[in-house]
Amino acid sequence: MGDKYLSTSELPFCKGCGHHLVARNTEKALEAIGLNPLDVILVTDIGCHGIIDRKFHTHTVHGLHGRSVALAAGITLGLNNPSKKVIVYIGDGGATIGLQHLIEAAHRNFDMTVIIHNNMLYGMTGGQASGLTPCGFKTTTSPEGKPYSGYDLCRKANNVGASYARRIIGTGDYSGHLAEAFETEGFSLLEVMEICPSYGVKFNPDRKLTEIIEQADLKVKLYSNQIRKRYQVHLRDNPISLFKEKNEIEIEFHSELKDTFSLILSGSAGGGVQLATELFAQAAIASGLDVSKKGNYPVTVGTGFSSSDIIVSPDPILFTGVKDPDVVIIVSKDGLEHCRAVIERMKNGLLIIDENIDTPITGAEVLKHDFHGIAGARSAALYALFFYLHRNPVIPVDALVSALGKSGISDKVDLDMLLNFKIE
Ligand code: SF4
Repeated sequence: MGDKYLSTSELPFCKGCGHHLVARNTEKALEAIGLNPLDVILVTDIGCHGIIDRKFHTHTVHGLHGRSVALAAGITLGLNNPSKKVIVYIGDGGATIGLQHLIEAAHRNFDMTVIIHNNMLYGMTGGQASGLTPCGFKTTTSPEGKPYSGYDLCRKANNVGASYARRIIGTGDYSGHLAEAFETEGFSLLEVMEICPSYGVKFNPDRKLTEIIEQADLKVKLYSNQIRKRYQVHLRDNPISLFKEKNEIEIEFHSELKDTFSLILSGSAGGGVQLATELFAQAAIASGLDVSKKGNYPVTVGTGFSSSDIIVSPDPILFTGVKDPDVVIIVSKDGLEHCRAVIERMKNGLLIIDENIDTPITGAEVLKHDFHGIAGARSAALYALFFYLHRNPVIPVDALVSALGKSGISDKVDLDMLLNFKIE
C-alpha cells in the first residue's frame, strides 16, 4: 500500500483494535476506486476512531460527539457534487447520540457513506455502555451485563429507505464491501462489528465476537441495496447565487512572493481588524495570490479582542490554520492577550507591536511603533498593515491602496498618513 491516502503505517490505536482495519480497508477501497484524495472528505466523530483523521491525506473534518452525520449532510449538500465522496467515521456511541441525524440522512438519501465502528461500548472514555451495546455484554456501566438490547441500526436504516446498508465483522480484507458502499448513489451504511481489546475483551474475556453478535440476533448480511436518487436540494425558481453578488477581483498587480506567508493581526473589537485584513486579502488576490482569511472574535462581537489569520501563497492553500505565523501584528492589549501564547511560542519571525503595550517574551524580532497615537483606535489596524508592507511588500502597497479605494471607505481614512510615515 502506498502513502496516497494514509500518511503512515503507524496508526494511533491500541494493539489489536479493529479501527486499524477500518482505516486500512478504507485506503484499499479508495485505491481500488481510484478517487483523488482531495475529492474525499472524511468527517470523523468523537471517539478513538476520530484520532485517525490526522493520518489521512484526504480533507478531514472532526465533528462534535454524535454530530458528524449532520456535519457531513451540510458538506454534501453544500458541495452538491457527485464526484466528491463524503465519508463519515463514527463510533457506536456517536451513532446513537446522533441517531436522528443518521436516520434522517438515510431517509432523505443524502450522498454519503457512514462507517460505524461498532465495538459495542465507549472505548475512548473507559468502556461505558452505548445504545448499541447488546444485552448481556459487560461494560464499565453494566458490570453484570447490559440488561436490555441495543439498536439494530442496519435494520433501521433499511426501514427508512437507505440505498445501502450492510453489517460485517471487522476482520480481514473487507475493502470490497467498502468500495461497494462508496460507489452507491445516495446514503450507504457499513456497520463494522469489532471488539475493543482494552475494555470489551477485558470485561468479557470468555466471549467471542461472532457468538456475541449471534446471541444479540444481529445479522451479518446485506440489509439494503437499492437504486434511489441521491437527495437534491430543492431550490426556488431562478435562485440568486450568493457568489454572483460578489464582485470578481481582477489581477492587476504582481507579487514577488515565492513561499506561503502567514500573518496574524490582532486588536480590539471596533478597531477595524476584520476590515483591514479583508482589504489585505482582496489586495493579495488582485496580486495573483491565493488567500485564506479567518476572523476570530468572541460571541459578544462588540467587546474584547478581534483577530484575523491571513495566509497568502503563490500555491493553493490546502490548510488554513496558522500555527507558527511569519508575522504577528498587535495593535491593542486585547489583541496581545488573545495572541500571547502564539507570540511566546515564536522562535523566529517578526512581532510588530504598538509601543504603548508591554512586549511579551518571544523569540521573534520585535518592532515597536505608535499605531494608536498616530492613527487612532479605528485606523491603527490598517495603519499597521501599511507599516508592515512598507518594510516587506509581500504584496504591492499599491494593491492595498487600490483595495481601499474600491471599498468606498477611502474618504474616511487619511491616505497620506498610511503612505508617508517615517520608517525607523
Ligand atoms: S480503547 Fe478500545 S476502541 Fe480505543 S483504540 Fe484502544 S482498543 Fe481501540
